Amino acid sequence: MHSTVELNLMPDVHGHFGPYGGMFVPETLMSAVQELTAEYEKARQDPQFRLELDNLLSSYCGRPTPLYYAERLTEKLRGPKIYLKREDLLHTGAHKINNAMGQILLAKRMGKTRVIAETGAGQHGVATATVAARFGFECVVYMGTVDMERQALNVARMEFLGAKVVPVTVGQATLKEAINEAMRDWVTNVRSTHYLLGTAYGPHPYPMMVRDLHRVIGDEARRQILEQEERLPDLLVACVGGGSNAIGLFYPFLRDAGVRMVGVEAGGRGIRPGDHAARFQAGKLGILQGTKTWLLADDDGQIQLTHSVSAGLDYAAVGPEHSYLRDLGRVEYDYATDDVVLEAFLELSKTEGIIPALESTHAVAYVIKHARKMLRDQLVIINMSGRGDKDVQQVAQFLATREGSGAGKMPPHGTHPSAA
Ligand SMILES: *Cc1c(COP(=O)(O)O)cnc(C)c1O
Repeated sequence: MHSTVELNLMPDVHGHFGPYGGMFVPETLMSAVQELTAEYEKARQDPQFRLELDNLLSSYCGRPTPLYYAERLTEKLRGPKIYLKREDLLHTGAHKINNAMGQILLAKRMGKTRVIAETGAGQHGVATATVAARFGFECVVYMGTVDMERQALNVARMEFLGAKVVPVTVGQATLKEAINEAMRDWVTNVRSTHYLLGTAYGPHPYPMMVRDLHRVIGDEARRQILEQEERLPDLLVACVGGGSNAIGLFYPFLRDAGVRMVGVEAGGRGIRPGDHAARFQAGKLGILQGTKTWLLADDDGQIQLTHSVSAGLDYAAVGPEHSYLRDLGRVEYDYATDDVVLEAFLELSKTEGIIPALESTHAVAYVIKHARKMLRDQLVIINMSGRGDKDVQQVAQFLATREGSGAGKMPPHGTHPSAA
């Protein structure tokens, strides 16, 4: 028995979540997004589509993922009981494959032969290249040169998988520019090509469709926690880049009044212009890349530079449904800075034998910081959106500079900097 909240969770026909979302695309793409919306509506109601997707999610991707009780971390923090939803164990190493698999099946239904994608951390590029290989699609991935450098391993993986990785050098040469290039390609090749967008962002129907394809995370977690603890969790925590892993976990719990939810954004070097990607800390309402939402812009409306140690969170805008859920007060948003995230990365690795993606580590850092304020019998689920293999070089570099600058050793137990 638990209380529920009334919420309207469906966007309107033009994809508005309250005042957010919509379809802000050039004339040349309007028919493409409308066709996609119609095809997706048909597919979601087709049991055959669902069946094929479910089969592939289990036999190819590795679902269901475990809900793991992190006993040692729990004991160490002396706070709530901490569970990890292990999306890091999925094929290709992150939650992104849930969405990529759904969209490639849709592209196949639509008779497309080519997929394009943007990528930041490279995880979405790898997921897209993977499903493209599996279904014999031509695949082109746009990636900023800055990201190509910090995620060189993923560039190699995409190439092994037969994808063409196109370097994007303009602007900040990260995710935002890669999306622009992907949209340009889509306009030109819309007949043959599906744009396999990687997060709960962009013009309708993407935010809704990507959410639907990731809700399997929350559906499983809900079933698993009820099996293991015979009750719902008290708190869900997930990192928020575009917002897909977070909405995937949160969505099936939104009507459960007793379940608190926190989305954690990238605090980077701190909340100063150009140093972070925490849209809800210092952002404003604006329109970027097809949707109306919270984003980081200066007083002239120019999109600001962003920074995060994790490429996957390094983006100036957040998915429109998150803006809506924040307005409703249903989900809270906080941030974690790079240094705190790197400490949490080492903490989880050493305590649980799980090396997390730097993105997911933002959620871990939040829980480490707040554990003491919670009760021992409370239940927390952290979304482990991905594994840290891709981040080895970044972290090694950080450790080298830290040692080089002599800026302090690992703090003793119980005085984690974020617990201060
Ligand atoms: C891409 C990525 C993210 C950020 O994207 P969301 O759409 O916000 O989930 C988070 N974690 C991992 C491991 C990623 O690869």
